[in-house]
Amino acid sequence: MQALDIAGLSAGYGRYDVIHDISLRVERGEAVALLGPNGAGKTTVLRAIMGMIKQRRGQISVLGTDVSRMPVHLIARGHVALVPEGRRLFLDQSVEDNLRLGGLHLRRDHERTERLLESVFELFPVVERYRSRPATALSGGEQQMVAIGRMMMSDPDLMLLDEPSLGLAPLAIEDMAQALITLRERGRSILLVEQRVDLALQVCDRIYVLSGGRIVEEGNSENVNADGRALIDAYLG
Ligand code: ATP
Repeated sequence: MQALDIAGLSAGYGRYDVIHDISLRVERGEAVALLGPNGAGKTTVLRAIMGMIKQRRGQISVLGTDVSRMPVHLIARGHVALVPEGRRLFLDQSVEDNLRLGGLHLRRDHERTERLLESVFELFPVVERYRSRPATALSGGEQQMVAIGRMMMSDPDLMLLDEPSLGLAPLAIEDMAQALITLRERGRSILLVEQRVDLALQVCDRIYVLSGGRIVEEGNSENVNADGRALIDAYLG
């Protein structure tokens, strides 16, 4: 059973499709990158998986369950969670409150919630140190850790991340990459949307390149040589 299996997905807004006939899979415990330039349709793929856009055709399965026609609140209660572009934290709320929001549907399971909170603090000690501060007081890199922690609070098997490196300093990107590698080593499945090829190759087992709403390349990270790298860079502009 695959963590994510997308077959022949087309989706868009209004009457227009912006992604066309996408097929993509993430095996359990695998990290996969979806690379592409601005406007390629990467965010639209994530929104389609989460059920956030109505106009979608084709098949989307998460851990063997067909979610193609499921409403967003049911998909989000399943085994998949998204770290959206720009993080979308409640900046005037405390770090801990932001984290707990990610685990709202598990809140009756007090023990599990506390265990999940501990696992976030273990992965990101700085988040524990700042747990009582308002999120706005944290740096961009620290806020991204909170956003990833909020996602972890729903205990998802499949983690979707939309350009988590955007606007972060190089050291913060490296910390984030290490956190994603750790989550993968712990058996989580990851679909990472990125524009940074270096980060994608460092973290992910396989990559797909999306351009103009279509998958134009795919391959194993370890087989991407200098020629392949040049090709990807050309797609990314
Ligand atoms: P970026 O890196 O800039 O976020 P992306 O690859 O994630 O790019 P999408 O955000 O999926 O690309 O956008 C793909 C296309 O869909 C773009 O042409 C964009 O203008 C259009 N689009 C995105 N969101 C909407 C929306 N809510 N309504 C209408 N069109 C949209």
